Amino acid sequence: MIESAPTIDATKFGTATIVSRREAAEGLWVMRIATDFDLGYRPGQYCTLALPVGGKLVERPYSICSSPEEDEIELFVERVPEGELTVPLYAQPVGAELPIRRRCKGLFLREAPVAGHAHIFVATVTGIAPFLSCIRTLIRRQERGEWSPAGRVFLLHGASVSDEFAYLDEMRACTQDHDWFEYVPTISRPWLDPAWPGERGRVEDVVRKHTDRLGLLPGAASAFICGNPQMIDNVKGALRRGGFEAAAVHEEQYWPE
Ligand SMILES: Cc1cc2nc3c(=O)[nH]c(=O)nc-3n(C[C@H](O)[C@H](O)[C@H](O)COP(=O)(O)OP(=O)(O)OC[C@H]3O[C@@H](n4cnc5c(N)ncnc54)[C@H](O)[C@@H]3O)c2cc1C
Repeated sequence: MIESAPTIDATKFGTATIVSRREAAEGLWVMRIATDFDLGYRPGQYCTLALPVGGKLVERPYSICSSPEEDEIELFVERVPEGELTVPLYAQPVGAELPIRRRCKGLFLREAPVAGHAHIFVATVTGIAPFLSCIRTLIRRQERGEWSPAGRVFLLHGASVSDEFAYLDEMRACTQDHDWFEYVPTISRPWLDPAWPGERGRVEDVVRKHTDRLGLLPGAASAFICGNPQMIDNVKGALRRGGFEAAAVHEEQYWPE
């Protein structure tokens, strides 16, 4: 049977062209896209990509990794087994065109950077995306003298194994070049990655160790957590038990619990 192509409303969707892609690990890739319209966004917002699948348009939100000051839009995507969108999306080559919603949305980092506060950013795998956009933007603003850090920005990034840290080099360089920033990647399956020299353990199990080490205290620090919903619950619990008020802990869940 020939599938009919779904109608795409041009007032709601423009076109994104894949301009580059980089494989981080099996089924985990960084993709840069260009749009045929101006996709305005703030750090922490997401765009919505779509593909026709089985005669209907399947849409999913993706947090943006790039700074709004960059020309292209960068996304970090995980292929979910049997995933309705990510399986065909993963198969799209450089040069492929796909529908993208004209409006970006999301309020996750709207308060960041919080005036006078240090920041605790916690992510699992692709959940690093909004933090990358924020950090890349803060660095540019600091270089222009438009922003100066009120405290440390600490990014704790969890993954099963180190291949999944697609931004390891960039984040290590940022840590070296900016005394206000520290990146700690941690792996939860060290037995699969015995040569990894860094932190081990789930983010929820090591977050307090690092916030205590860095003196990131309730009242003086705000926390933002992004990615896997179970991890978010666990990190929230650890921070709340450490005295953080609910209002100081923000979250972006990638899928319902
Ligand atoms: C605000 C927001 C921002 C997001 N940003 C990103 C991003 O930057 N990168 C990214 O890869 N994804 C991101 N997601 C998730 C993304 O929108 C899709 O849900 C995901 O790509 C799976 O789509 P799918 O159609 O392939 O899977 P579906 O067929 O919709 O199946 C999804 C189901 O798979 C399970 N699942 C397992 N692993 C994941 C996973 N990593 N993500 C989602 N579901 C999973 C869940 O049970 C979920 O219900 C974001 C989601 C939200 C709400």
